[in-house]
Amino acid sequence: MNSRRNFLQKIGLSALALQLAPVAGWANNKPQISTTPYDGPMLRVAIMGIGTYGNIVARALQASTKAKLVGVISGSPNKVKDWQAKYGIPDKNVYNYDNFEDIKNNPDIDAIYVIVPNFLHKPYVLRAAKTGKFVISEKPLGLNAKEGQEMVDGCKKAGVKLLVGYRMHFEPKNLEIIGMRNAGDFGKIKYFTGNGGFHIGDPTQWRLDKAKSGGGSMMDIGIYAVNGARYMVGEDPIWVTAQEPPKSDPVKFKEGIDETIMFQFGFPSGATASCLSTYAMNNVDRFLLIGERGYAELNPANGYGPLKGRTNRGDLKAVSPAMQQTAQMDEFAEILFNGKVPVVPADGEEAVKDLKIIDAVYAAAKTGKRIPLSL
Ligand code: NAD
Repeated sequence: MNSRRNFLQKIGLSALALQLAPVAGWANNKPQISTTPYDGPMLRVAIMGIGTYGNIVARALQASTKAKLVGVISGSPNKVKDWQAKYGIPDKNVYNYDNFEDIKNNPDIDAIYVIVPNFLHKPYVLRAAKTGKFVISEKPLGLNAKEGQEMVDGCKKAGVKLLVGYRMHFEPKNLEIIGMRNAGDFGKIKYFTGNGGFHIGDPTQWRLDKAKSGGGSMMDIGIYAVNGARYMVGEDPIWVTAQEPPKSDPVKFKEGIDETIMFQFGFPSGATASCLSTYAMNNVDRFLLIGERGYAELNPANGYGPLKGRTNRGDLKAVSPAMQQTAQMDEFAEILFNGKVPVVPADGEEAVKDLKIIDAVYAAAKTGKRIPLSL
């Protein structure tokens, strides 16, 4: 099993890239639900960053059958001690932000999962790539599309596969809707709306500092409607318009930090989307996809679950996993080791497309102009 893993890591992008290549026709893939027991290698993951989300992913990995937490990278020795006790992480798999490149010499770690504030994704992903291990970054991939592209290029150059923690891409109810759409159940798709938001607290947190977050609610929560619009409609937008209403608190929501933003997309088929992203309203979490013959609705749509949803034919039937991050990590093992092509890709190239759209949303909100896109 080890030699197979080593072989797969060595060939890195060369052979696997053929199977994992950016998936132009992903909208037409049918959800693949495996019925055979997994006998492939375990994806042995080191998590970088013991923050709110790092803790959630660590917990989710306990239930994964294809991936497991084996290492940690952190600057907080006390938190590391807790994790070592809780998750049985040996001393030899503990690293800090200065020495984690040494992971290249550790045969017991396959992947580094970067779960730190957005501004650290690029430097840490590029350093992680140098270890030759698989790299997983949290969303958004970078602070903007340029950064994201540099990360994709850096991982390509290092010959390592880059994935992004898009947990919704593996969420069964989302996949059920995509399957119904592909089967023609809603007729020709005409419209999508994605509304997401919550009331953000502490004004000193990194999410409200443009240099650390890259922007406001769009970078954090609006990104779900951005990529949701793409995988629900099954096309990439060709134009963007956006509006930013006056801020309720210009001190908390400084220049470059959007409190609330509305954005619209046009798709090649003529379908349109209209979305809302906000740090000023609680419990906003809804997707609605409308075709000529029917609709699908998720509400909640992007929370940690369980999600709820229905179509014009009745309630969605797919069973939500106890933790979406478990499903994501199981799928990541399949993608990285077995070349599985997911229904909705979660690779670096896909994440750059989302960042190009977000860049365009900001430009449209600022200029009031319709921004053309070619993704
Ligand atoms: P957090 O602030 O709770 O944790 C960040 C971690 O990074 C902390 O452990 C902190 O110590 C560490 N860190 C290392 N260097 C740092 C520095 N220079 N400044 C600040 N912190 C530093 O943040 P979070 O909510 O865990 O978010 C982390 C990442 O995960 C973000 O990119 C966020 O967008 C993403 N996230 C994704 C999801 C999802 O559903 N996919 C959910 C939440 C967060």
